[in-house]
Amino acid sequence: MSCVTARVLDGKAAAKEIYADVATAVAERVARGASRPKLATVLVGDDPASAQYVELKQRNAHSVGIDSEDHRPPANTTTEELLALVDRLNQDESVSGILIQQPTPKQIDMSRVVLALDPVKDVDGFHPINAGLVALGLPGGVEPCTPAGIVALLERAGIAIEGAHAVVVGRSNLVGKPVALLLLKRSATVTLCHSRTKDLASHTRAADILIAAAGRANLILKDMVKPGAAVVDVSTNWFEGRQVGDLGSGVDEVAGWLTPNPGGVGPMTRAMLIRNTLQAEARRRP
Ligand code: NAP
Repeated sequence: MSCVTARVLDGKAAAKEIYADVATAVAERVARGASRPKLATVLVGDDPASAQYVELKQRNAHSVGIDSEDHRPPANTTTEELLALVDRLNQDESVSGILIQQPTPKQIDMSRVVLALDPVKDVDGFHPINAGLVALGLPGGVEPCTPAGIVALLERAGIAIEGAHAVVVGRSNLVGKPVALLLLKRSATVTLCHSRTKDLASHTRAADILIAAAGRANLILKDMVKPGAAVVDVSTNWFEGRQVGDLGSGVDEVAGWLTPNPGGVGPMTRAMLIRNTLQAEARRRP
């Protein structure tokens, strides 16, 4: 029996290319006397895992010549206090982009905080104005990092999106819905599946591009994948002490392209944050 091994959709390598492009653009800005972009990160409390993520994002920014500043309000910060910080960062001319590390402590009303962000500085692309522009396919919206990273990964690998049947498993506002919209904008025919979808396998088997973002280990089994499909495994499930996605074993024998997990979507998400920070500055001060 012949056994096809999928080609790797290498998020680390693609992210490296994006950092190189951003570094060139930042150096070009600085050389012509334009402003250097700056990312402001906000971590409420001292959760060690969140602190690590923030430090990584800061390191990624510095590696391409983007400045950063870090805000660490205490774990008992109120929504009003966080809103006051967001207001200060909105007004601060030197700040290009604001990242509020999530999850925040329970007492924080994140919907109010996201609404208070200056949409131009919303480098996560969570503000309803940005989500709306992206949904309408209009220019000027900040694309959310994970969905934008997924699409950039497919495009960089030369995978044809136009006319392809893309099936997205998961319909969250963070991943599933926006990635479906970005694929639709690029003229894929998109099917959006979720926990109430009947006969999930009948949909996934029809996918030229399959985006698995359900957060359920072993949801997508080998026989649910069309031979040769490009499969993007977004999820970060923890299973027996290690990170796994939604795919069961053997999917690599059927798929044509496959993201490693970890090492696929995660690095692309961070690269898109850095790209968005450059774009935010370029919009404010070309
Ligand atoms: P979420 O808000 O929990 O959404 C999960 C979605 O999957 C929901 O729409 C849910 O359907 C659907 N779903 C759950 N079980 C299903 C099933 N058995 N069959 C079909 N659909 C099912 O999660 P999320 O924020 O979108 O994130 C998804 C995964 O991606 C998580 O593991 C998360 O950690 C990961 N993630 C990774 C990155 C990265 O950078 N690598 C970034 C963001 C998220 P209903 O709507 O019907 O409930």
